[in-house]
Amino acid sequence: MMEPEITQKETRCPRLGSIIPFSYCMKCGDGRFPCGKVIDCWWEIFDIKGYLEQHLSAEDFQELVNRKPKDKVSSILELIEQAKKK
Ligand code: SF4
Repeated sequence: MMEPEITQKETRCPRLGSIIPFSYCMKCGDGRFPCGKVIDCWWEIFDIKGYLEQHLSAEDFQELVNRKPKDKVSSILELIEQAKKK
């Protein structure tokens, strides 16, 4: 379970261009993973790596850390597809 004091933290999303809560970042990946940029976006705000290590399985954590960043167009298309599904 995610702690409210962390899930309610907010930052400006470089993909969406608006302020969003951390809880969104933890759900907006492919449904199982957090967003692939979650470490880049949150490391200055709190210990995101420590948080992910606690909340993901060791296997999922390694997969997230080792993911290659997607190019901007792929990211935008993915976000559009996710928005259509909701
Ligand atoms: S982790 Fe993803 S959804 Fe969250 S602010 Fe960064 S780019 Fe946006």
